[in-house]
Amino acid sequence: MTASQAPGELVFEAPKRGKAPRHLMDLTGPERKAAIVELGFPAFRADQISRQWLSRLNDDPQTWSDVPADVRDAVSGSLLPALLSPVRTVDCDQGTTVKSLWRLHDGALVETVLMRYPGRVTMCISSQAGCGMNCPFCATGQAGLTRNLSTAEIVEQALAGARALNRDEVAGGEGRVTNVVFMGMGEPLANYSSVIGAVRRLVSSAPEGLGMSARGVTISTVGLVPRIRQLATEGLPVTLALSLHAPDDELRNTLVPVNTKWPVDEVLDALWEYADVTHRRVSIEYALIKEINDQVWRAHRLADLLEGQLVHVNLIPLNPTPGSKWTASSPQDEAAFVATLKQRGIAVTVRDTRGREIDGACGQLAASPE
Ligand code: SAH
Repeated sequence: MTASQAPGELVFEAPKRGKAPRHLMDLTGPERKAAIVELGFPAFRADQISRQWLSRLNDDPQTWSDVPADVRDAVSGSLLPALLSPVRTVDCDQGTTVKSLWRLHDGALVETVLMRYPGRVTMCISSQAGCGMNCPFCATGQAGLTRNLSTAEIVEQALAGARALNRDEVAGGEGRVTNVVFMGMGEPLANYSSVIGAVRRLVSSAPEGLGMSARGVTISTVGLVPRIRQLATEGLPVTLALSLHAPDDELRNTLVPVNTKWPVDEVLDALWEYADVTHRRVSIEYALIKEINDQVWRAHRLADLLEGQLVHVNLIPLNPTPGSKWTASSPQDEAAFVATLKQRGIAVTVRDTRGREIDGACGQLAASPE
């Protein structure tokens, strides 16, 4: 919990401390040009620098042979502060799942997970240090909110994975990041402007951005309704995932406390509007918790809500946090839940539990840093 966060309280406004120093990745293309001019160099250097950083994934300015030494020195000194230092890295799945813990400039910790699949690589990244949404089954929720991340602190998480792949440091050979999911620490829509800035950096074409497809970016949210509606207007057709976890307000109020502010009906309305405006299929995340939300009658209630919509359900076997009173559903209950949704014509998959043996679930690495 933050000093001011009472048990059960939701924190939407992050504490104002610990703001990261300004970094090249905080800036749009025109802002980078202005910053270079401010340093006393011609604006065109900004594109060269951006290409080195984002296209060549070269984070060592001393090796930028197309950029004069005085520009390299000035830029390193004022626009490229080290934002993330590695604390610990663990891997599994023959090195194709890599979870990293990073320390930020002020000591705050965040996690990333790189997951390599045939033909794609997903980076799971964090939007906040900690989280103020207080979901009782989530390790990050238990620790409370430390602070918002800056745009650059978010972008640099994805770039750390991109660089490792580019340098052939990940099992499976050279590669690139094809997908970014905001499913690490934090509630992305509670850090709206930094997250949108980061998404723009990821999807803008070179030299401004990394040139990813917006479809490859997923924002996962507890359901901050006004922000979902705002996101629909950004012209950024990212995939939106809603952490529903229960079809009824009574249970969802306890699993996702923000439901007391924006209940199931309201959040689903916003979700359908998002699908309508963006023509993107939306996702529902549903962590299956033994004898809590995994009954066949709840699968029917869920199907009642989702029938006929452009939606896909992602069931996640609960990854119990240390000391948790809850555990994952039995295989039989999970199968019955899946079968019910399928019978009702709802698109459903069960998420693979990659990284489980390396504390892959949200917040679990930061909870045991050493
Ligand atoms: N705050 C955002 C994104 C971060 S968590 C959100 O809540 O959507 C990404 C997903 O992991 C969410 O669906 C979250 O509910 C789920 N999650 C968190 N802890 C979990 C756990 N212990 N087991 C399974 N899923 C978990």
